[in-house]
Amino acid sequence: MNTVEIKQNASLQDLNSLALPAYAEYFCSVSGISQIQQALAFAREKGLQVTPLGGGSNMVIAGDIQGLVLHLDLKGMSSKPVANDQIEVTFAAGENWHEMVQLCLQKGWYGLENLALIPGNMGAAPIQNIGAYGVELCDLFVSLQAIEISTGELMVLDNKQCQFGYRDSVFKQAYKDRFLITHVCLRLSTQPTAQVQYPALAEALGDKAVTPELVSETVCRIRQQKLPDPADLPNAGSFFKNPLVPESGLDRLQSNGVQSPRYAQLDGTYKIPAAWLIDQCGFRGQRRGNVGVHEHQALVLVNYGGTGNQLLALATEIQDAVFAKFGIALEIEPRLYGV
Ligand SMILES: Cc1cc2nc3c(=O)[nH]c(=O)nc-3n(C[C@H](O)[C@H](O)[C@H](O)COP(=O)(O)OP(=O)(O)OC[C@H]3O[C@@H](n4cnc5c(N)ncnc54)[C@H](O)[C@@H]3O)c2cc1C
Repeated sequence: MNTVEIKQNASLQDLNSLALPAYAEYFCSVSGISQIQQALAFAREKGLQVTPLGGGSNMVIAGDIQGLVLHLDLKGMSSKPVANDQIEVTFAAGENWHEMVQLCLQKGWYGLENLALIPGNMGAAPIQNIGAYGVELCDLFVSLQAIEISTGELMVLDNKQCQFGYRDSVFKQAYKDRFLITHVCLRLSTQPTAQVQYPALAEALGDKAVTPELVSETVCRIRQQKLPDPADLPNAGSFFKNPLVPESGLDRLQSNGVQSPRYAQLDGTYKIPAAWLIDQCGFRGQRRGNVGVHEHQALVLVNYGGTGNQLLALATEIQDAVFAKFGIALEIEPRLYGV
C-alpha cells in the first residue's frame, strides 16, 4: 500500500485554471482508494474539513483553504458491452475529460463529441452535470462510485439519485461536500451517432456529411475561437450561469427597448444568455486592475495576475449592474473557496 504524502501550506496557484494565488493548509494527492482512506483518516484525526480538487477549472479560490485539499488523481478506464450497439465505460476520477473524449472516439465509442475540450477531470463532471452544444453529462451517465467523506464508506449512485439539472446535481444540493467521486460510468454507442441540433454547431457544420469525428473537430474549433485557453489567459470558463426567468420577467427586459435573445425551456421559463446581459451593461473587454472581462466573450472573467478578491469585486460589480438594468440576478457558476 502506497503511503500518502501530506504537505502543509501548499500553493494552489498552479492547480486552478484562474491561477489565483492561494494556499491549502494541508494538501494531498491520491491515486487509489486506499490512499483516499488514509487521507480521510488523517483528516478525521485532526478534525479537518476535506475539499476535493480535480483539474481546478471550476473553482474560484479567493483565499487560502483551511483543512485538507484532496487532489483526486486516480487513473484508469474499463469497459463492458451491454447491448449490440452500446458499451458501458467506467473512468477513474483523475482522468482528463477531453483526453477521454478523444480516446473514446478513437475506440469507436460515440456520444461524447459535443463535450470535447471541456477542461477538468472525470470526477468533477457529475458535480455540475457538465454540458455543451446540446449534450449534457446526464444524457450518457449510468452511475458513479463515491466515498462518503465522514465514514470512508464506498457507495454507488445511479442517474436518478444524482438529481441532475442545468449545471446542477445532488452534489451541489443535499449531498454538498459529502462525497468524493472516484469513478464515473457512462453508456456510449458503438454505432456512429451525432447530436447536431444546437444552432451554432448546426451552422458551423453546414451541409457537410456529419460524422462523430467531424462533430468533435467542429466543437473544438468553435470553442478555440470563442474561449481563451486557461494556459494562455487564466479563466474558469463561464463565470455566471445563464439565468432562467419566468415569462413575467421578460417584461422588464422589453421595457429597456431591446429584444433579448431567449430560449424557451420545458418548464415554461426562458433561458437568457448571461453574456448578452453583461455585454448590454458595457463590461466586455473592461479591465479592473489585474482582472477583467474577456474582450470576445463577456461571460468569461480573466485573471491578468490579480487576486481572488479583485476578481470577486468585479463579479459583484457586474451582478449589481445587470440587476439594476434588467432586474435579473446573475448566479456565479464556479464554486467559491477561501471567502
Ligand atoms: C475555458 C473553460 C471552459 C469551460 N467550458 C465548460 C462547458 O462548456 N461546460 C461546462 O459544463 N463546464 C465548463 N467549464 C467548467 C469546468 O470545465 C467543468 O465544471 C469541469 O467539470 C470541472 O472539472 P475540474 O476537474 O477542473 O473540477 P474542479 O474545478 O477541480 O472542481 C469543481 C468542483 O467539484 C469538486 N470536485 C472535483 N473533483 C471531485 C471529485 N472527484 N469528487 C467530489 N467533488 C469533486 C470540487 O471540490 C469543486 O467544488 C469550463 C471551464 C473552463 C476553464
